[in-house]
Amino acid sequence: MVQNRYKRIVLKLSGEALAGGQGFGIDSSILQRYAVEIKKVVENGTQVALVVGGGNIFRGVEGEHSGIDRVQGDYMGMLATVINAMALQSVLESIGQFTRLMSGIRMEQVCEPFIRRKAVRHLEKGRVVIFGAGIGNPYFTTDSTASLRAIEIEADVVLKGTRVDGVYTADPEKDLSATRYSNISFDEVYRQGLNVMDMTAFTLCKENDLPIIVFDMNKPGNLLRVVQGEKIGTLIQ
Ligand code: UDP
Repeated sequence: MVQNRYKRIVLKLSGEALAGGQGFGIDSSILQRYAVEIKKVVENGTQVALVVGGGNIFRGVEGEHSGIDRVQGDYMGMLATVINAMALQSVLESIGQFTRLMSGIRMEQVCEPFIRRKAVRHLEKGRVVIFGAGIGNPYFTTDSTASLRAIEIEADVVLKGTRVDGVYTADPEKDLSATRYSNISFDEVYRQGLNVMDMTAFTLCKENDLPIIVFDMNKPGNLLRVVQGEKIGTLIQ
């Protein structure tokens, strides 16, 4: 098998991706497929940390319309990510992949607190580390969590698995003439106002020279291909 290009990665999976076609909740067949793909990447020699979103269950800004205070809503969103993380952890372990779930909010009964050195140690031992509860603070997103944790654990790259196969000149679901970038610089993304991840997350990557790859996680085998260095999706650096 082709050797993996990256030694340590952070893979960001949105809550929406876990919901599959149903748009809400967790699609168990998607979890199963993601787990198998993640395990293959580990077996081929890469340390994998995961950041999961919570948009399939709750987002802080959504609550504002129903009388839920923004900060309260954000904490609800963070707890939603823990539900997704626990599901993913279970499915990974059911196929024999050791994992550790680390949370940005203390909840010892279900996960370890996030401690950077411990996270690195788990990764070195071949465990998949899942970061739940975001960074533990309101007004942030799980994209920012992926960027921050990647910098902290010195990952080589942030992989953003989405349902689109990269960054386009315009929204490819609305504009048929949109074309995909295979490579683009951070500055160009700013100039063109392209939507890669939220600006806080994006700026953290830029300021710390951390490359981002946006790719289609729903195409079977894509995750391993990206990690092996195949040029699919869009590389931002
Ligand atoms: N959230 C937060 N701080 C964090 C991470 C997440 O407040 O560090 C909240 C925020 O309300 C967010 C929700 O959790 O909307 C779910 O995360 P996100 O929207 O990033 O999930 P995704 O869009 O990836 O499914």
